[in-house]
Amino acid sequence: MGKNSSIEWTHHTFNPWWGCTKISDACKYCYAETWSKRIGKELWGDSTERRFFGEDHWTDPFIWDKEASKHRIRRRVFCASMADVFEERDELRFWRDRLWGIIEKTQCLDWLLLSKRPENISKMIPWKSTLPANVWLGTTVENQQAARKRIPELIRHKASVRFLSCEPLLGPIDITPWLRKKESIHWVIVGGESGPHARPMNPLWIQSIQEQCQTFNVLFHFKQWGSWRPPDNGSFHSKNQIYLPDSMGNSSIKLLKVGKKKAGRDFQGRIWNDIPNLN
Ligand code: SF4
Repeated sequence: MGKNSSIEWTHHTFNPWWGCTKISDACKYCYAETWSKRIGKELWGDSTERRFFGEDHWTDPFIWDKEASKHRIRRRVFCASMADVFEERDELRFWRDRLWGIIEKTQCLDWLLLSKRPENISKMIPWKSTLPANVWLGTTVENQQAARKRIPELIRHKASVRFLSCEPLLGPIDITPWLRKKESIHWVIVGGESGPHARPMNPLWIQSIQEQCQTFNVLFHFKQWGSWRPPDNGSFHSKNQIYLPDSMGNSSIKLLKVGKKKAGRDFQGRIWNDIPNLN
């Protein structure tokens, strides 16, 4: 994938391959599958092949690393936007091993490994107790069930940054049991779903996560509303509306389907842009 990513919290994206199998609620409208189909590639499911890349593709991280080194800055690389780096399939082993080698050789890049399969991390990484300092480990937590299953698997690993991606956020989540353990989670990203079938995100769920992060001094990043957002006293308009429950259970929270671009990424009148800085 490209050198400059449009994802707010990363500089580059790198995909060791394309393709995956859906495994959770968050995968229902997987944007990577949609994108892949749009360019004529059927790569999703257990029985389909994955897409692999040539030498030019694998050279990119070295170019980014060289540039970062030249300017004496660190650059973040999101891995992977079109796959799950910890998916278990025999033919992925070779490419994953190649990735580990590149991570070790690109010390000016911070590699953000985000997965919905953190239970596979131990058996797939080549490092024993502590990961290289330029590896940030993250897992997707779209609802409470995912939190219970994936966070304990994530925090078993000693990474310089451990992060949660609550995107698409599909329900209220109490992450305090894990945030309470000092330094277990360093960073939480929240975002809503986009696309024609996007499921709306209740602003109360965002507020709750933001407050939990604030209480435990954990970095909070609000990435996007996705397709739906509140009207903000008439600033936004759409005939496509929905009412979600407030804290009393009354359907009083109005959201409008305005599309991802228009919906933006402000929450409670400001931008929440926290990103770990290890410089
Ligand atoms: S794990 Fe990620 S890439 Fe794989 S199907 Fe789910 S959302 Fe798509």
